[in-house]
Amino acid sequence: MAEFTMELNDEQKEVRDWLHGFAADVIRPAAAEWDEREETPWPVIQEAAKVGIYSLDFYAQQYFDPTGLGIPMAMEELFWGDAGIALSIVGTGLAAVGVLANGTEEQIGTWIPQMYGDANDVKVAAFCSSEPDAGSDVASMRTRAVYDEAKDEWVLNGTKTWATNGGIANVHVVVAVVDTELGSKGHASFIVPPNTPGLSQGQKFKKHGIRASHTAEVVLEDVRVPGSCLLGGKEKLDERLARARERAKAGGERVKNAAMATFEASRPAVGAMAVGTARAAYEVALDYAKTREQFGRPIIDNQGVAFQLADMRTSIDAARLLVWRASWMAINGKQFTAAEGSMSKLFASETAKTVTAQAVQILGGNGYTREYPVERMHRDAAIYTIFEGTSEIQRLVIARTLSGMPIR
Ligand SMILES: Cc1cc2nc3c(=O)[nH]c(=O)nc-3n(C[C@H](O)[C@H](O)[C@H](O)COP(=O)(O)OP(=O)(O)OC[C@H]3O[C@@H](n4cnc5c(N)ncnc54)[C@H](O)[C@@H]3O)c2cc1C
Repeated sequence: MAEFTMELNDEQKEVRDWLHGFAADVIRPAAAEWDEREETPWPVIQEAAKVGIYSLDFYAQQYFDPTGLGIPMAMEELFWGDAGIALSIVGTGLAAVGVLANGTEEQIGTWIPQMYGDANDVKVAAFCSSEPDAGSDVASMRTRAVYDEAKDEWVLNGTKTWATNGGIANVHVVVAVVDTELGSKGHASFIVPPNTPGLSQGQKFKKHGIRASHTAEVVLEDVRVPGSCLLGGKEKLDERLARARERAKAGGERVKNAAMATFEASRPAVGAMAVGTARAAYEVALDYAKTREQFGRPIIDNQGVAFQLADMRTSIDAARLLVWRASWMAINGKQFTAAEGSMSKLFASETAKTVTAQAVQILGGNGYTREYPVERMHRDAAIYTIFEGTSEIQRLVIARTLSGMPIR
């Protein structure tokens, strides 16, 4: 087990500087254009693929870094560049992780390369779990997957919503109900291969922020996928369902806690994205406050402005520490006895919202225009308290973990 450290080693510093260079030279200059276009920035993804940032290998290397700092460091730098473009670059990873976590070696080898494509023909993937009536309440999911034994095929029907890359993805990973009695324990994940009949894009959302990232509904109408597209395989599913039925009979609480642990481990990565956006806005505000003069002196000469900047930086550093602690715990198999993963996501997302609002204020009228990037960063930051579990859901998880009570 690696000791917890706040010091990046030489190799990590090299990767960080390389990512920062890409974020500064390629992502940041393209940010305003793709925000206005509200389209997937394919040329930037292609650039990222060419240099090796858009690939499973890169994320796997960061993920298996025993210090736990690889992923948060990478996310912070890319999202410092621009949140919408960075999400377009890392969004495929969400689907890839779904396959890595639940798939067989054969499924991983078959589908993950098709999620990324290659530098000359980049592809993206989508992870489709949320539904119009099942957002925070995942157990209300309605999309059904029914097994057609005669043909060894699964038939999927339902509507997914809010899917990052939904409808434009080469490969969709779809979560569906296979046993209606078991709540979220009766769910399973399926690969929907490229060009499968019955899968279509519904509404594409026009969003407040992260507008370079494509978000859409995905409609599934009698979508037939081979039995081999059930992640983990049928035998494993049947065993898991049998265990879940036993546990449900015995009371169910252990089952809930196991599911919680999985989410706890992935939340710090979203916290790191929020730290990246917050740091970007803080840096713009600090520079501006030092150069903008009113009443014959730089505005930072007023404590009212200087203290805001002091608070902004303090919160950002605190957020990063929570994120790094949780990431270190996750990779080293430490138990999240106080929901430290949720804590890091909650604090970092709220920090990004507050800090970007303060940055707009410090830039005054300029902060309110699209001439300066803090306006965009402020819109982008609002997503962090919503996706991958809202702030309220993080508080719920923390409170339940601390108290052991079924707080509702
Ligand atoms: C840009 C974007 C990209 C996304 N990408 C994906 C994706 O790729 N794949 C995917 O599957 N999903 C994705 N999502 C969905 C996202 O995870 C959900 O939006 C989120 O989980 C919240 O669900 P909801 O929108 O239905 O809100 P709701 O669950 O309806 O919540 C509405 C409000 O009620 C509050 N609330 C709900 N329940 C409680 C409670 N018990 N206690 C206190 N407050 C409560 C919430 O905190 C929130 O403030 C994305 C969403 C967005 C906006």
